[in-house]
Amino acid sequence: MKSVSSFPELMEIQNDYEKSESVFRQAQRLIDNEMCTMVSESNGGFDFIVEDRFDDFRVVIGIAGKRLSLSCSCGSRLDCCPHAAAALILLRRKFDEERRRVSVSTFIQS
Ligand SMILES: [Zn+2]
Repeated sequence: MKSVSSFPELMEIQNDYEKSESVFRQAQRLIDNEMCTMVSESNGGFDFIVEDRFDDFRVVIGIAGKRLSLSCSCGSRLDCCPHAAAALILLRRKFDEERRRVSVSTFIQS
């Protein structure tokens, strides 16, 4: 899967999208409390529902080449709100798990 290999590493996600330490911490908290769930996956697009204290928000992550597009229904003016940040981290973990499942042959090649 092409999208998997081009998906940024966690470090890049932090550097490029989750520029604020507090956003990153909030995102981690949302994931630790299992409040971030992937609901669907389509061609280069991922839909999440993120529960927050007061409401549920819908996050959509689109993958276009090296660049990700993020949108969240909370209407935050941040480039990356904690909900989108949580979805990004969750997606990164999912790809890490997929990569671990990749056969031994590809492992030797790299
Ligand atoms: Zn949000």
